[in-house]
Amino acid sequence: NAKSSGRGTYKRFDVAMHAQLQAHQQVKIALRGALERNEFELHYQPLVSLSSRRVTGCEALLRWRNPERGMVAPSEFIPIAEETGLIVPIGEWILNQACRQAAQWPEHVSIAINLSPVQFKHRNLVKAVADALSASRLTPARLQLEITESVLLDESEHNLQLLQELRSLGVKIAMDDFGTGYSSLGYLRTFPFDKIKVDQAFVRDLPHGRESLAIVKAVAGLGHSLGMTTTIEGIETEDQLAIVNAEGFHEVQGYIFSRPLPASEVSKLIDGPLEKGGASPVYERFANS
Ligand code: C2E
Ligand code: MG
Ligand code: MG
Ligand code: MG
Repeated sequence: NAKSSGRGTYKRFDVAMHAQLQAHQQVKIALRGALERNEFELHYQPLVSLSSRRVTGCEALLRWRNPERGMVAPSEFIPIAEETGLIVPIGEWILNQACRQAAQWPEHVSIAINLSPVQFKHRNLVKAVADALSASRLTPARLQLEITESVLLDESEHNLQLLQELRSLGVKIAMDDFGTGYSSLGYLRTFPFDKIKVDQAFVRDLPHGRESLAIVKAVAGLGHSLGMTTTIEGIETEDQLAIVNAEGFHEVQGYIFSRPLPASEVSKLIDGPLEKGGASPVYERFANS
């Protein structure tokens, strides 16, 4: 009857919850010391200029290779690294590693690094960025810091000041995952971002999604009138590429040109001619997915 099946449902729910909590706990434990054990690496995904069809920069994307778990996806461990505060030392490692790598690339190729809201709240951020720049001797203008609007949700005066301070180091500031939060537009008014990166959510149903198309068009126009570089992520097909090209986006990032790659592989794309669908998916196989 309804009552007993109801109880059964709760029980199953409890079991699932328990398993989830346990998995979470295990990731937490495994993450501790992962930095010291050298389990992190960075992969780099090219940003491609639509006018020149050359690689203008790469986004550093964190990868965790754990001996027991294999390659763990960022979505599985970054939230836990944030919750535990481990993202702060990991984030400093990323800054240093990525800047040193980028310093090996030609001067016209930049490096984009994701900043977690937790790093943003940490008082050491400006110094950490400045230190990574001076240790690598990377030209500051080649460093782009990607932030999502979740970074800016509170203490807006303080946040604006922090953005200004970062910018005064000479780095560029990009708004990542544009359109996924609820006040993306408001932030464009309060802070002059150098770049807007449209989230891949608006690309997924192109070329057919009318709403997505309208939004993509609007952002391209907005970027041009505000003098910001416009980038769009998650481009996988020729049709999608044709649309964002027609709308006048400056650059794209997506599997159509390349998946995120280890440094040794991405440098071939930086130096050589770019072929569509060039990179093998072998580098992007995560455990449990
Ligand atoms: P994001 O910053 O928006 O990064 C773009 C994500 O889209 C990456 O996933 C990338 O692999 C994926 N992607 C790029 N092109 C395509 C495509 O054509 N199709 C599809 N389906 N996906 C594509 P990834 O590496 O799994 O990272 C997920 C998120 O984790 C990132 O989103 C970012 O928010 C976070 N993350 C990754 N690395 C770092 C890091 O070093 N630090 C911090 N704080 N967050 C990071
Ligand atoms: Mg990003
Ligand atoms: Mg993004
Ligand atoms: Mg995104």
